[in-house]
Amino acid sequence: MKSGTFPGGLSLPVSAAGVSKPFESVPPSQTVIIPLKQHIGEPCAVSVKKGAEVKMGDLLGESESAAVHATVSGKVTEIIKKFPGMSGGYVPAIGIESDGKNESGGFLEGSDPMSLIQKGGVVDSDVEAISLHDKLTLAKEKSVKALVINSVDVEPQMISRASILAENAKEVASGIDIISQILGITTVYIGVSENAPNAISAISGACSSAISGACSSAHVVGLKAKHPQSMQELLVKALLGKEVPTGGSPEDIGVTVISVETAFFTAQAVNDKKPMLERFITVAGNGIGSPKNVLVRIGTPIKDVLEHCGVAPGHGGKVIIGGPLMGTAIHSADIPVTKETTGIYLQKEGDIAEFPSGVCIKCGLCVEVCPMRLMPLLISGFSESGSYAMAEANDILSCNECGCCAYVCPVLIPMVQWIKLGKSEIRAQRSSE
Ligand code: SF4
Ligand code: SF4
Repeated sequence: MKSGTFPGGLSLPVSAAGVSKPFESVPPSQTVIIPLKQHIGEPCAVSVKKGAEVKMGDLLGESESAAVHATVSGKVTEIIKKFPGMSGGYVPAIGIESDGKNESGGFLEGSDPMSLIQKGGVVDSDVEAISLHDKLTLAKEKSVKALVINSVDVEPQMISRASILAENAKEVASGIDIISQILGITTVYIGVSENAPNAISAISGACSSAISGACSSAHVVGLKAKHPQSMQELLVKALLGKEVPTGGSPEDIGVTVISVETAFFTAQAVNDKKPMLERFITVAGNGIGSPKNVLVRIGTPIKDVLEHCGVAPGHGGKVIIGGPLMGTAIHSADIPVTKETTGIYLQKEGDIAEFPSGVCIKCGLCVEVCPMRLMPLLISGFSESGSYAMAEANDILSCNECGCCAYVCPVLIPMVQWIKLGKSEIRAQRSSE
């Protein structure tokens, strides 16, 4: 097994990295809110009425990309037109009051894998969540030749991907074979953090015991534990030595990257005819103690997940969706877990600090760590002063918002916030044109 990495980035001393832990199931909540848009693209069309009785797995929203299903049995209590979406704005959503019976509805019908993936609502999550059906359609159009399975955890302290591999290697291997068959390819790379030995040995074992299928000849590659190694373009660079063109996607160079959890849910949809009803999540941060892995039903309020992890209501801490470097703070823990939720991070009340940002001292540290080889000080500065054309000319849109620059800045300039603002202004301007 060879080892790979990318230039720049951060090697952080995180004791939890690479650790695998079993997933605890969070009990179903009394009330769940299920957004009808949980990936980029259009929201699903509502397929139930207020007052309808539903069972787990029943269809709530139809879409040509990824359907949405009930995750508890009970009564539809509300069809919400405007519910705060995880990626900003408002989305329609459906509220269900559980009857406590947890009865399952029917299974997915048919045998075509692509159709089962779409009907099963399988979504691939990276920086943004995308319908797997749409992603595979694009990969087929571009005649990709290689599949990369992303098993690197998204941020330091997040341990769910290493744990999925360690716990469910057989199911993941089956998902990889299904996806490879759909794409008609046999070249598979599985990238795993090299400090996750349990995950590496579990997937290596599952691949070597496979008699046929793409998994039997997959390359399992240990990658240096560096942030943001999980980013698609950096993974492709580390595994295949290929550069994704600026503004392009891995499919442009004949590669598609799919997350390990997506391979798991693909196997569940195609083999067991079960829709995607849950999300594997790590709950971490100094407000939690050692990180926990949980399996959570979509629609479960974040506060119920925290309570399951021993966090009492009124804890006063800061709740972040995602991880410590790239996550987004939320104001209310009433919002639900969705297919887009990559993790939950809780900062203790006493550790939340307001800090003044200083003036750039031109130390160059941010340039040194930027994995995209950008000039973070310049693009954030242009964005701060409203010079969006200059920010664009300096490639602000290639920033993957990994947070490395802001982490090392000695004068605490909130570069990622400025960059995010600049990107959204440029995109808004483009769409108005
Ligand atoms: S500029 Fe963007 S890609 Fe570069 S370090 Fe900062 S956040 Fe990461
Ligand atoms: S790390 Fe901060 S102070 Fe140093 S060059 Fe970058 S923006 Fe300026």
